[in-house]
Amino acid sequence: MQKAFSEDPDVTLITPTAPMATPTHGGRAKCLQRLVRLDLPVPRTVALSFAEVHRIAAGQMPDMAALLAHFDPEALLCVRPSSEDPDWGGPGAVLNIGMNDARYVALTESIGHEASASLYMRFVQGYAVHIARLDPDLFDEIEDVGQAGLSAALAAYEEEAEEAFPQDPAVQLREVLRSMARAWEGTSARLLRQAKGAPVDAGLGLVVQEMAPGLGKGECGSGVLQLVDSDTGLPQVTGRYLSQSQGREALKHRNTSLFLEKDPRGPSLEELAPEAFAQLKAHTELMRRKLRAEMQIEFTIQNGQLHILDGVRVVRSSRAAVRIAVRLVEDGIISPQEAVMRIEPGAISELLHRQVAPGADRRVIGRGIAASPGAATGRIVFSSAEALASTSRGESCILVRRETSPEDIRGMHAAVAVLTERGGMTSHAAVIGRGMGLPCVVGAARMKIDLQRKTILAENGSTFREGDVVTLDGTAGEVLEGSPEMVEAALDDAFQKLMGWADDARDIGVRANADTPADAATARRFMAQGIGLCRTEHMFFEADRITPMREMIFADAPEDRQAALAMLLPMQRADFTELFRIMEGLPVCIRLFDPPLHEFLPTDRAGLRDLAEALDLPVSDVTRRVESMGEYNPMLGLRGVRLGITVPEIYDMQARAIFEATLDASREGAPVVPEIMLPLVSANREVELLRSRIDAVAAAVRAERGRNFTYRLGVMVETPRACLRADEIAPHCQFLSFGTNDLTQMTYGLSRDDAGRFMGDYVQQGVFNEDPFHVLDLDGVGELVAIGVERGRSSNPGVTLSICGEHGGNPESIAFCRAVGMTYVSCSPFRVPVARLAAAQFALSAEGVRKPPRM
Ligand code: PEP
Ligand code: MG
Repeated sequence: MQKAFSEDPDVTLITPTAPMATPTHGGRAKCLQRLVRLDLPVPRTVALSFAEVHRIAAGQMPDMAALLAHFDPEALLCVRPSSEDPDWGGPGAVLNIGMNDARYVALTESIGHEASASLYMRFVQGYAVHIARLDPDLFDEIEDVGQAGLSAALAAYEEEAEEAFPQDPAVQLREVLRSMARAWEGTSARLLRQAKGAPVDAGLGLVVQEMAPGLGKGECGSGVLQLVDSDTGLPQVTGRYLSQSQGREALKHRNTSLFLEKDPRGPSLEELAPEAFAQLKAHTELMRRKLRAEMQIEFTIQNGQLHILDGVRVVRSSRAAVRIAVRLVEDGIISPQEAVMRIEPGAISELLHRQVAPGADRRVIGRGIAASPGAATGRIVFSSAEALASTSRGESCILVRRETSPEDIRGMHAAVAVLTERGGMTSHAAVIGRGMGLPCVVGAARMKIDLQRKTILAENGSTFREGDVVTLDGTAGEVLEGSPEMVEAALDDAFQKLMGWADDARDIGVRANADTPADAATARRFMAQGIGLCRTEHMFFEADRITPMREMIFADAPEDRQAALAMLLPMQRADFTELFRIMEGLPVCIRLFDPPLHEFLPTDRAGLRDLAEALDLPVSDVTRRVESMGEYNPMLGLRGVRLGITVPEIYDMQARAIFEATLDASREGAPVVPEIMLPLVSANREVELLRSRIDAVAAAVRAERGRNFTYRLGVMVETPRACLRADEIAPHCQFLSFGTNDLTQMTYGLSRDDAGRFMGDYVQQGVFNEDPFHVLDLDGVGELVAIGVERGRSSNPGVTLSICGEHGGNPESIAFCRAVGMTYVSCSPFRVPVARLAAAQFALSAEGVRKPPRM
């Protein structure tokens, strides 16, 4: 009978050859089978498949007598959950099944009164709360231990449940199985695991295991051991052991439990039971080698004898995950490719920034969109001027604004983090914050910011004032009170090694969006293969440039405009020369001026007065002119290439600055081939007209300097029309770069600066699966990109294709870019490592290297 039973794939005795797999029996069952194959001292275990547990939840019980026939009739049993992925949760383990009056008496002989009573009492309590669902308070008042405590617990059970405690082990086990199966199928458990990525129909397996109870005569107890530190990933025997305990109690009672290895802080298992400790360590090392993973084991010592009950993958921080994977490669256990597959790309970005420490005290006072990762602590300031003043006093500050504008750049540079009430993933604060590696939370609409009184009314009703210390967690999208503990960035050797292996595997390029020398230096540090987007407009907000810029905008006559631009030319030339120098011959793609001009004009009275003074005009004249330049829809107005056509002197100046910088930088180092990109193109004629103007500037510079150079012209495809007419546009240029921020905005007809107001509701109600400014909308925007790629290539097969919108750093979007055959993605410098790793994983999975199953 036993043979037939062990061949039942749904109720299977775990043997080395039993049919068992993670997708049908769960990770725990599969892992136990591996331990059995390694001949480790694992107690007898039967696995119930997902299908069986599903039937149990529906009321169809297995043959209990047959199930129990697998085990020693004297043994106690435990039941543990076995889901496909341990992160999906599941009901807690139930121990000591089989304890009843008769077993209690029998056990007093072998393990003593106290241990026997303790086992029974634990079971009664566990069963009452988790299976019979009685009120846990029921047992709180029982102070007695031993037989008196047990009698009180049994009486409390009987009174509340209105029936005697079940004595038949078959009934006990049946009820445990039924309760655990039903708990898994309950609505709240399902929603909880779906939130962690589990599919709707994720199954639960159960394992029924004979127990080594951990209580009794001789040395008895239980503990948990792993060979690495979960936070750092460094080799370190970690865990605890507690005599006369069960399950994971040793971890709960740290004052009384023992260290495992000899430790100056207190007594250890190594001293108490050297042989068992040596075996335990050897078993865990064997598991590491054979299961090819760092494992945590749960063990029991029963009368000096070691039993291994369970093994799970060590819980780990992101930095520990990288160190663990790299050490497994160095020890010859896994291949570099497998190491690359084992790290979540999103987790990498945690390593690049300071973070709030995992166990820190988090008093959350507000929430918004997690727009730029990392965490920082500082005093609240409400303006860029205060941010600069605070920094000059040597005080870290957090800049709080309704939203930021280009005028806030200097304040953002001064602050350690930025919080805005409005905005979404691609609003100004978010884009600049990510570019600078500055933690940023945007769209915190439930925090009431009062700029007049300089206060923030937090979600919990408390008020924070200028100067109060808060911590902004841009990874979690939360604002915290005070200064919780932090952990530093970890760009150590292990990180560099892993990234090197990722680069070996990757088949799509990764560049960075970088506007400043600091950005470019970060891009190099993170091994970007060039700059895919340099937004030049930010360069005009520096204090020494804004006035000539405004004079240029106000100029009536072309000569006046030329004069103002002549002042800007050397500054731009110096900007580009420095970028070329830092990038040392790597490609640099410079986008010509994009925003509406009036963004550069003053909005307050003092600014208008300053400008009137500089221009020697009455304030009323200046005010009127500023007002006349206002647009109803500036993002759809006179900006981008439209400025290039209507005010061509600006692009002429920029092209000249780029070419002169090209010659200056090429003289000193590797020859530079600049890339010039036209923004907001919607018609091929725009490109034709500007190409001939830029060619003319190039010819003039060549003639003046007597030296030759080449350049590449490209079009930023960020209007739906540019995608649809890419076949007409592509023959006029060498590259097309998809600007998916504007393209998303225009495809949805959804303002990127206002999306934060309702995006939360939209995603919560399932109108959008994800914020389309964060994850590329493959159905709509993606279709336009695919059309653009296909049509662009049809008329210019050699055209270089890339993406430079924020999506370039998002793993799902990178998969799409790779699939349509783009040459590279370009993203904020701090997202470059994430993109490198994600791209490598897509290439490796295409080659058949899979992510390991979770244990
Ligand atoms: C875009 O629109 O996708 C883009 C990269 O440009 P910007 O964000 O500067 O508009
Ligand atoms: Mg754009």
